[in-house]
Amino acid sequence: MSLTLPLLGPGRDAPGAGPATTPAAPLPGVLDVPADALRAWLAARGQPPMRANQIRRQILANGATSFDAMSDLPKPLRADLATSFAVFSTRVERHLHAPSDDTHKLVLRLADDRMIECVLIRDGGRATACVSTQVGCGMGCVFCASGLNGVVRNLTAGEIVEQLVRLRNLVGANPERPRRGASANHPVADAPGSPGRLTHVVVMGMGEPLANLDNLLAALAVAGDRGGLDIGQRHVTISTVGLPAKIRRLADAGKQYHLAVSLHAPTDALRTRIVPTNTGTGIPAILEAADEFYAKTGRQVTYECVVLGGLNDGPTRAAELARLLAGRKAHVNLIPWNDVDGLPYRRPAEADLRNLVDTLRRAGVSVKVRKRKGAEIDAACGQLRRKAEQEAATGGEPAAPAPG
Ligand code: SAH
Repeated sequence: MSLTLPLLGPGRDAPGAGPATTPAAPLPGVLDVPADALRAWLAARGQPPMRANQIRRQILANGATSFDAMSDLPKPLRADLATSFAVFSTRVERHLHAPSDDTHKLVLRLADDRMIECVLIRDGGRATACVSTQVGCGMGCVFCASGLNGVVRNLTAGEIVEQLVRLRNLVGANPERPRRGASANHPVADAPGSPGRLTHVVVMGMGEPLANLDNLLAALAVAGDRGGLDIGQRHVTISTVGLPAKIRRLADAGKQYHLAVSLHAPTDALRTRIVPTNTGTGIPAILEAADEFYAKTGRQVTYECVVLGGLNDGPTRAAELARLLAGRKAHVNLIPWNDVDGLPYRRPAEADLRNLVDTLRRAGVSVKVRKRKGAEIDAACGQLRRKAEQEAATGGEPAAPAPG
């Protein structure tokens, strides 16, 4: 996922917005407090266990951004909650918006001052959230900005859910959109005044999702909760560099999530140049695990291929890729490389991209070129967060996003 958007400026809750005070230890985000611990905290204050669900529903379904706004809780409890927990453990460091296609990008500052990115993409009736699963990335794909400084840590389930909630809160309320499961005879509308809804999630932000599978699955379980974000499993896509054992675990999880495998090259020799972790894995093991995923879940696998001009876009590569995937029930997404400052790659020529598409189609492989979201949207995943971190380190002015 990659884009550059005009800067809206720091979020209202960004550091520096309020009076200077000695920084206190951050309060734990309430979404990361285990349900039984929250219920115990409530019980100690004479509150029934159902309050825990009310709090979560207020954040996940109603879009509450403060305890004070949780009007179904007693006022003293709201005040008490605010002294022990934060509604969000993250703060909006940057908020960028592309008016041409209504895409939003957020840089979130985590409680430990690390930064991550997430994006809201609007397309027709869709509102898709692209979320990160790690601070940085340990996979080291040579063309990608997210992995330039390696991986720092996994995100917690709550930090993943917070990205979804913050993006959902940017979706304007749409009273005409029925909830999941609604039908002509049984329309189920959102309550008046409730926030809009995310329809899709792509786990294609920073990090390797399958290297943080437990927290990701916990977060996606929350995302699917009908009384909360209500995002159907079939509308969730998890993109992986290709970790065979974890692909099998995902297949065994009994969910309907869609799997996308970042293949990028048709031979091990070339893939290892582009994806260093391929050395210990190899394409055959990845395809075998992906085939098993399809056999077990019935969900067709997508293969992603970032197209790097002069590297993996020639006629020989096209023919090799077609041979590798022909006969598989699979779909290929070709992603023309998005420039990353300082990296020596280039976007493919139009003719080479066309030849790749034609060669795959002739071999019976379903293929699409992933469309760009407007001219101003072309800085790559992880770049904005790098800039924000560099500026924080040097105390500099916010840099404008890369020119579009
Ligand atoms: N680690 C996971 C998910 C994160 S990246 C993975 O490897 O799939 C999501 C997708 O964006 C991957 O296919 C990745 O290769 C692609 N991507 C990353 N940086 C890019 C860039 N600069 N241009 C185009 N695609 C990029």
